[in-house]
Amino acid sequence: MAAADLRHWQIGDVTVTRIVEIGGFADNIAMLYAGADADWLRSFKWLGPEFVTPEGLMIISFQAFLVTTPTRRILVDTCIGNDRKSRFAVFDNLKTQFLEDLELAGCHPEKVDTVLCTHLHFDHVGWNTRLVDGKWVPSFPNARHLFGRTEWDHLKKLHEAGDSHAMHLPDALQPVIDAGLADFIDADHDVCEEISLISTPGHTPGHVSVLIRSRGEEAVITGDLMHHPVQCAVPDRQANFDEDKDLACATRRKFLANYDARRALIIGSHFAEPTAGWFEKDGSAWKFIARKA
Ligand SMILES: [Zn+2]
Repeated sequence: MAAADLRHWQIGDVTVTRIVEIGGFADNIAMLYAGADADWLRSFKWLGPEFVTPEGLMIISFQAFLVTTPTRRILVDTCIGNDRKSRFAVFDNLKTQFLEDLELAGCHPEKVDTVLCTHLHFDHVGWNTRLVDGKWVPSFPNARHLFGRTEWDHLKKLHEAGDSHAMHLPDALQPVIDAGLADFIDADHDVCEEISLISTPGHTPGHVSVLIRSRGEEAVITGDLMHHPVQCAVPDRQANFDEDKDLACATRRKFLANYDARRALIIGSHFAEPTAGWFEKDGSAWKFIARKA
């Protein structure tokens, strides 16, 4: 990651720093919405060049967020990780400088005291571990790792059934649990004075978003409550990536209604540069107003 990709947001006494693993990845909108095409995506002019290519491809990123409070160093989601096999070429056998980038952001991996995973999909837990001499070891040896209890039970079931969506369990999660570094939490958990969780189920059963409140300011790191800003415009349209599609739609609409009118800075976990902005009411739906630097 280039130093220029580092981005900081200040919410009262809390600093959120973005660490990009894969930035500006362009893909067909039909990956997200069956039957949607480039012309449809381009018809939302407010998306601008940040979120749609001139050809009408959606742009998304894969990134983590370092949340620094006066007392804590919390890493929210840990991306995909190096050396992992994937059936998707873009994720297969990555060789990024993620841990060095974290240091560039001002935090040595040993200084992270909390790892918080919004859910347990492969692209949110990968750097929990790294491959050393053929063995997967925790990347953040001094951190408590907060895993949703509902998420863990669900992933374990998928793994027992041989589901490919759980193939990362043995190398990205089990070594952390074996090292005694995992805490299984409820979806309404309070992490510390400034950081708490919002239950946002649907994408996965125990999915959470991260609420940051300090000195009267608010921000939310969405997790995969949505993947692309166009979802603000069609919150009720079922998305391919969601496990319970109806519940995900209901959760999205409720969340959009709750956080519009610039109540909170919205930091989209998969939103491309500039990643953060606000929801604004637009008829019966919403649009996303990107916050320019
Ligand atoms: Zn994701």
